[in-house]
Amino acid sequence: MVDRAHPVTEQRHADLRSPLPEHERDLPVDVSWLRRRAKLFATVSERNFHLVTDLAAYASISGMPYLSHYAAQVYLGPKTARLKVPLMAINLGLVTTREEADRALAHETMHLVVPSYGHKAAAFARAQLLLDQVGQLTTAPA
Ligand SMILES: [Zn+2]
Repeated sequence: MVDRAHPVTEQRHADLRSPLPEHERDLPVDVSWLRRRAKLFATVSERNFHLVTDLAAYASISGMPYLSHYAAQVYLGPKTARLKVPLMAINLGLVTTREEADRALAHETMHLVVPSYGHKAAAFARAQLLLDQVGQLTTAPA
């Protein structure tokens, strides 16, 4: 999850660099853009997930309250019965620009790919790699 409590984690998260061109970074996030973007992260990470922006639905499926100060969160299912396709909730109340959305998607996808990394520097290096790969995917000639 994007835990805003720890300053080191917060700084590492803020240091993630979106591959979007500068004029797109501050554009607002709508659900259809977010869904297309999330697909790119699923592709480069080879880890599929369901994107959820309805936080009440996420809370009801996961059985855990969605904490309103979290920008994003993933749910893998109970330890003994992991979901085949995990859920990723993005809080559009907090994630308001495409740059922030890229950081949140990279951060949460990283948790799905390397859950044991926690919030170590290596975890954010992986998140940055995912962003770079999404950038290569979107600038590659058709
Ligand atoms: Zn996190």
